[in-house]
Amino acid sequence: MIVMKFGGTSVQDSEAIDRLCSIVRSKLDRQPVVVLSAISKATDTLINCANLAAAGELAKANEDIENLKTRHIEISTGLVEDETSLSELIQKLTIYFSEITDLLKGVSLLSELSPKSHVKIVSYGELMSTLITSCAMKERGINSLLLDSREFIITDNNVLKGEPNISEITLRTQNTLSASIQNGFVPVIQGFIASSMDGTPTVLGRGGSDYTASLVGMALNAEEIQIWTDVDGMLTADPGKVTGTRIISKISFEEAAEITYFGAKVLHPMTIQPAVEKNIPVWIKNSRSPETEGTIILNYVSDNEKEVKSISCKENITVMNIFSMRMLNSYGYLRKIFEVFDRHKTSVDLITTSEVNVSVTLDNNEYLEDIKSELSEFAKVNVEKDKSLVCVVGSNIRNTKGIAAKIFGVLSDYNITMISLGSSLINISFVVDKDKLKDVLQKLHDTFFK
Ligand code: ASP
Ligand code: MG
Repeated sequence: MIVMKFGGTSVQDSEAIDRLCSIVRSKLDRQPVVVLSAISKATDTLINCANLAAAGELAKANEDIENLKTRHIEISTGLVEDETSLSELIQKLTIYFSEITDLLKGVSLLSELSPKSHVKIVSYGELMSTLITSCAMKERGINSLLLDSREFIITDNNVLKGEPNISEITLRTQNTLSASIQNGFVPVIQGFIASSMDGTPTVLGRGGSDYTASLVGMALNAEEIQIWTDVDGMLTADPGKVTGTRIISKISFEEAAEITYFGAKVLHPMTIQPAVEKNIPVWIKNSRSPETEGTIILNYVSDNEKEVKSISCKENITVMNIFSMRMLNSYGYLRKIFEVFDRHKTSVDLITTSEVNVSVTLDNNEYLEDIKSELSEFAKVNVEKDKSLVCVVGSNIRNTKGIAAKIFGVLSDYNITMISLGSSLINISFVVDKDKLKDVLQKLHDTFFK
């Protein structure tokens, strides 16, 4: 069996859902389980309305909810022809929307949005997208079976970002889904939503539908997991900055993690870990162009793959240089520095050190001034804003001679700082000025992807 996950843009309107049905139909012989996100922007709207209600703006929240209802009804009307099925569907959606309105009213009366209310309200996004899609599938002759993920995706009590309980998920997912799949049904389930052991609704955190797909794939030992989205796969660089980019056909989990981390927004690597650990391949595919092959993410790719897989970058980076003579021949100094970042919950990406200097990059400036003033008590601190971080990724960098020479050779005209060969030896990163970023990326891309 396989798991097919469709993101928000793949269910954003009736045409998208119609396409989705054809894609699923073409894979029926592989026994698919379908995992869905909410229709695009629905989760944002629900969160926003919940916050509006808590802030005393119930009328505005209700207006936005009314628009969201219109969108769901329009999608349904565009998809389902049979009058009885359509009116049943609209009736169910209307009940959901009146529940949402009741919840918003409660939030507004209390002037407070508890995490539990938040979760209840956002859960409707996936409940509604799966309701509509499974109905559309039935009308198209697919034997869909709508199930509630909260019965088998079990997390701890952290309601807004539940930590999956792997053994419970495995047991319950097998019990709930295996027989139906064997009997020829196509289970349609909500991504993102879950519940704790005591039945309290939880969610897996933003973007959590990919996580659901990989958990279900893991539990059912799927042959593969397909993440259907609106791009052709992972690319060798950001096409908004570089010309001539290509789709990466095969990538290891380790490489994918480096690339996603540095800004390719296709999926969060953590979410596919359960699948990759079980050696289940994860495909990234484009639901607007299903015939395009896409990218496959594997636990491991062979040594004769290309040495460089992608050139990624992160913008609006701040570099902080921390200088002190006291660092010379002393111990405990680095701990002292990192304690400051720790206290201000600021994560550090790149670190380079010399005898008397530590340089770090930060992508969050929220506590910059506080950090600076605390560090200034024992070191000289200088801050450079608006820098860019470039990251050349490929697991065969570690086995190939001369990659660094090649990189820095083509960049000899640029001022490059904070050069770092990641400790996993699969990425070479460095910092450049913002206005040089595009040139640098293009030069590197031309060098490695000619
Ligand atoms: N609908 C949820 C979100 O927008 C989960 C997902 O799309 O993966 O975060
Ligand atoms: Mg997503």
